Formats: sequence, C-alpha cells, structure tokens
Amino acid sequence: REALVEVKQLKKYYPITGGIFGRTIGHVKAVDDVSFAIRKGEAFGLVGESGSGKSTTGRTILRLTDKTAGEVKYKGVDLHAVSKQELRRLRPSMQFIFQDPYSSLNPRLRVGDAIGEALMDHGLADKSEIRERVQEVLALCGLAPYHIDRFPHEFSGGQRQRIGIARSIILQPEFIVADEPVSALDVSIQAQIINLFSDLQEKKELTYLFISHDLSVVEHLCTRIGVMYLGSLVEIAPRDELFARPLHPYTRALLSAVPIPDPRLKRERIVLRGDIPSPANPPKGCKFHTRCPLATDRCKEEVPVLRLADSDHQVACHLV
Ligand code: SF4
Ligand code: MG
Repeated sequence: REALVEVKQLKKYYPITGGIFGRTIGHVKAVDDVSFAIRKGEAFGLVGESGSGKSTTGRTILRLTDKTAGEVKYKGVDLHAVSKQELRRLRPSMQFIFQDPYSSLNPRLRVGDAIGEALMDHGLADKSEIRERVQEVLALCGLAPYHIDRFPHEFSGGQRQRIGIARSIILQPEFIVADEPVSALDVSIQAQIINLFSDLQEKKELTYLFISHDLSVVEHLCTRIGVMYLGSLVEIAPRDELFARPLHPYTRALLSAVPIPDPRLKRERIVLRGDIPSPANPPKGCKFHTRCPLATDRCKEEVPVLRLADSDHQVACHLV
C-alpha cells in the first residue's frame, strides 16, 4: 500500500541552557534520526517507555512543533517546508488527539459549541448546519444527541475522550495522531474507546499514528508497530510478526511484560536493569547497551542502523 506519511531522518533537539548567561550547553535529543512510513488506511502503533520521544515524534510529524532536521511528507507534501497558508489548508485533514481531552476542552463551552467551533474556525460549515453536523458526530462517537447542550465537567473520562474524538472527526480528517488517548482511563473503558477508534477507522477510512507506552493497548488496533527507545526506532514490524517473533532485545523485554491469555504460551519475564538514561546524555554506540542483557563491546562503540531483517520487518541490533 502507498505511504500517506513519510518520515525521513527526522530530528528534534531541545537546547539545554546553563550558566549565568543562559548559553546552550547541550541538547536533549528527543527525536534522533527517525525514519518510517505510515501507509494509507493503516493504524501504525508507536510504543516505548515515557521519555522515548514518541509524543515529540507525533507532534513534529504534524508540525505542531518545528523540526531540527529531516523531512515529513504528507501525501507527498513536505509539511515543514510549506507556507503557513498551505499548512492551514491542510490542517483539518490531520488531527491530533490528546491523552487528556479535558485539558483541551474549554470548560465554559457547551459540548456542541466546543465541537462546532472547529468547523467555524476552518470555515467548513455555516451556522445553520453546525448543530446537525455536531449531532451526527456525537452519534458516531457513541454519545446521545441530548449531550450537545451539556458542559465538559458533566462527563466521565471516557465520555470526554469521545467528545475529543468527535471534535477531530467533524473536520473529516484522513490522518489522526492519537497520543496515549486511553492511558488516563480505566481498563474497562480503554477497550470501549479502542473499539471506537477501530469503528471510525473503518467507517471514515482513517489512517492512525497511535502512540502508547503499553503494547497491549496497540495490540488490538494497530496492524504495524514501531518500537522507540531514547529517540530512536529500534524495531518496526507487522503486529503479528512482532508479537510472535520480536527480534530486538528491548522489544522482547517489553513483550515479556504483556500478559498472554493462554498460560501454556507463557513467556519468560525479562526485567531490564536500571532506568531509561537521559536523552540529554544518551549512551554511545547502541543507546540500549547499558540495559541490554546481550550487549557486547561492539555495542558500546558502534551505532546499529535500522535495516530489513525479513520482509517488512526492520530492526536495529548488531546481533540480528
Ligand atoms: Fe543489545 Fe547490542 Fe543489540 Fe544494542 S546492538 S540491542 S546492545 S545486542
Ligand atoms: Mg508522551
């Protein structure tokens, strides 16, 4: 399938300042040379521990923040090179969904206005049609029409996330970056929201970049998965392949913590030593070598590059 989004050697560094003159004394390499493609119509899962650069990758892809280097192409258009005007024209078709929709909902606006205002802002509807359009998306997102005149504080966490999703969907996007959209919710509610994402993907032919620290969350929705560690992608594979045959030692460790329904298939739990190092001062060579149970001397010096290990399965490890 053709790529909707192509990310090439993307870097996002934040300066660290210090001393009495506030000079730049280093950089946090939040996204450090990341390349991958998201195919039209797929749900691509991006997983990794907090601090691995997943959110920054998602935000930089949508140009919610400037890049340091590299390229992001959306339908062949270089998003970081287009004019502000062209970017504004593209905005409705690329949406970002936050972990906590409440923080992005104005508490004084009724739900109908909160969802409808995006349409007005982009000049995509006139006043007379807005109410109807809002009720349509509320229904699509599993909320009864009478909710339209209620305020955000009257809703549960799961309902608020439905409202957040409705507000993106009303702009008829093609591509959605969802950043930990279920992490703040109870496990029982998480499944409902993931089902909603899945329904909408089918009905609206959406493409997702779905970000989560939890592999079991992306397992049901995403058909390809990328694993990030300290700003780098260490493995990319189709979901079933990744779960059955993880190649990177870090992916194996992450997977060993995911509960499996069939106890006969029980995986041995791999517990990593130490915490994720600071992205301001990442280890040399393979960034994972300080925690990798298989690290050799070569790993401390030489950076492993992401390369094809099998058809559609990429990994960055010297041992593969
Ligand atoms: Fe471990 Fe070396 Fe592979 Fe890095 S390159 S994951 S340190 S074996
Ligand atoms: Mg994050």
